[in-house]
Amino acid sequence: MQSTETKTTCSYCGVGCGIIATTDAKNYVSVRGDENHPVNKGMLCSKGMNLHYVANDTSDRILYPEMRWSKSQPLQLVDWDTAMDRAAAVFSSIIKKYGPDSVGFYVSGQCLTEEYYIANKLVKGFLKTNNIDTNSRLCMSSAVVGYKKAFGEDAVPISYDDIELADTFLITGANPAWCHPILFRRLENHREKNKKVKVIVIDPRKTDTAATADLHLQITPGTDVLLYHALAKRIIEKGYNDSHFIKNHTQNYEAYKAIIMATSIENAAKICGIPMIQIEQAVDLIGKAEGFMTLWAMGLNQSAIGVDKNTALINLSLLTGHVGKPGSGPFSLTGQPNAMGGREVGGMANLLAVHKDLANPEHRQEVADFWGVDSISPNPGLTATEMFEALDSGKMKAIWIICTNPLVSLPNARKAEAALAKAKFVVVQDISHKAETTKYADLLLPAAGWLEKEGTMTNSERRISYLAKGINPPGEALADVDILLRFAKKMKFSGFDYNSTEEIYKEFCHMTRDTNMDISFLNYDRLKNEGTFQWPVSDYRHPGTPRLFEDKKFFTPSQKANFTVPAAIENTSGQPNDEFPFILTTGRIRDQWHTMTKTGKVSRLMTHKPTPFLEINPIDAYKKGIKEGDLVEIASKNGLVRVKANITTTIKEGVVFLPMHWGRQLNTDLSRANNLTNTIVDPVSKEPDFKFTLVAVTKYVKP
Ligand code: SF4
Repeated sequence: MQSTETKTTCSYCGVGCGIIATTDAKNYVSVRGDENHPVNKGMLCSKGMNLHYVANDTSDRILYPEMRWSKSQPLQLVDWDTAMDRAAAVFSSIIKKYGPDSVGFYVSGQCLTEEYYIANKLVKGFLKTNNIDTNSRLCMSSAVVGYKKAFGEDAVPISYDDIELADTFLITGANPAWCHPILFRRLENHREKNKKVKVIVIDPRKTDTAATADLHLQITPGTDVLLYHALAKRIIEKGYNDSHFIKNHTQNYEAYKAIIMATSIENAAKICGIPMIQIEQAVDLIGKAEGFMTLWAMGLNQSAIGVDKNTALINLSLLTGHVGKPGSGPFSLTGQPNAMGGREVGGMANLLAVHKDLANPEHRQEVADFWGVDSISPNPGLTATEMFEALDSGKMKAIWIICTNPLVSLPNARKAEAALAKAKFVVVQDISHKAETTKYADLLLPAAGWLEKEGTMTNSERRISYLAKGINPPGEALADVDILLRFAKKMKFSGFDYNSTEEIYKEFCHMTRDTNMDISFLNYDRLKNEGTFQWPVSDYRHPGTPRLFEDKKFFTPSQKANFTVPAAIENTSGQPNDEFPFILTTGRIRDQWHTMTKTGKVSRLMTHKPTPFLEINPIDAYKKGIKEGDLVEIASKNGLVRVKANITTTIKEGVVFLPMHWGRQLNTDLSRANNLTNTIVDPVSKEPDFKFTLVAVTKYVKP
């Protein structure tokens, strides 16, 4: 057999780089960047270029369904029929006894769009509960609300090609040099060619992104809204605001302006920990920009006031008229490869497909009619953290977890772990035995991984890619969508008799007809033959839409963009005190992905940062008697972590940083950052407050 080439997309971050995977005669996979892909033009970062190791190494894979009849028994191999019979029997009996809201599904931004769509149709349409949420709740739900408030819909206005057209970038709460590397490389290439390009970075850490910036505002965590208000005030005072755009294309400006003008710049500078001169410099760079882009990620979203941070930032783009024109606009970066696809199919507890809202009775009926069911429950669904609280309280009895590892990624992870242990029935559908969550499975289902199934994904810039299947999954692993369809069949639900994944996609595309995200003219053939498309795609010859709102008609009823007055100015998560004097922020490192079930098995990726660590400023370390490499204990009111200290001037005094990737190691959970994190969530987006937990740090002394 000759080698074959498969066009696909990287399964890690939301940049969505194109990959050519080559499978040789021995079924060995190798990868290279797709030179013709509009996103990466052949480039791959360290994670993407090592993706073949993950595909080739099946040593940790779950190969067959495993099941136990009682919690005291070990898991045993069973066939698929037995596994799905049991799943259907247990879910039916729990629903009959306790009602539909006693079960829930927790899915992932790594699911393909077809999988996401079917999971939501199954749960919201047929199981009659809205308890389906996604781990994307943990990373970008605040951005979803921010866009809806500003533009009337969850619509990312611009595309990566705008990077090469912009001259001023404000990167805030993001470290694309590590977390969206190919995007950052495009920005760096643009800077090299165009010396006029300026980059402002707002971050409490001097990350690799901040280190290359023209201006780094090393902000005190939690004070972002105040800083954006201060910038806005000086923009207005210096006449940099775009009065024509504001007058003709926005609403609620006067209310916003009243709040902004009441801001004391001196006070803001003090609270944000930023010199006045830097605020002035940032204002001049923004004010003189011809193309102004804001890029942000978890640093804004993962906050008790994440929505306010989003809207306050988007307001800066509206204020300066930098929306709907080349090289301009607000641009949230998604962390996962298909977080955006999930948003499109209503993959969150409060959403319905095609950007409809669960709380809207008309929207519920429209979707119910489309699916051929009487109704969709009006009960609000439980979000990610709420589902685990419901397991803890006994309100929810069973959970089905797909392609995510919540025991490492959820806040207050020990509590989440205790909650999962209380569940009557846990289904885990995953690829790897290494995922900590598999330990609690009563039913463990082997899922196909990257390159082992077909489907579509949407990246951060609304770009839809088709992912072809290149290899067969190992053992009896099945595509996630096939597992869900088998379950639907066992539940005797009609409406799941698809002959192919393509049929599912067709159904979803049909649903988008005449909406703002219309892709009803898109299909697998076009995606395979013509490449990727950015929605909307308004006819059979339409090439897709790189930039929204060029006509300045926004998706609000008035067609005007909305200035939103943030409800809160400063974080509501408390202030450092004698007991917990440090602010802990958690995040990613360059070569690891999420909970390391994939990147953790690639030895060359482990060389970058082989062990977990705490970043601490030298002044703080000195005060605490901590030396480089010392074991330190980090304590919050929720738990404890013990890792080595990494003393660095790159982190602001009073702030410490832990990577979020490590879970259980050598049977201890002491390197799991989320032992510490608080359970506060944004009141609107319900996104957790990962970037602000009060902690104490001490040198560990062995008893
Ligand atoms: Fe994959 Fe993101 Fe790296 Fe591109 S930038 S290769 S999508 S991890």
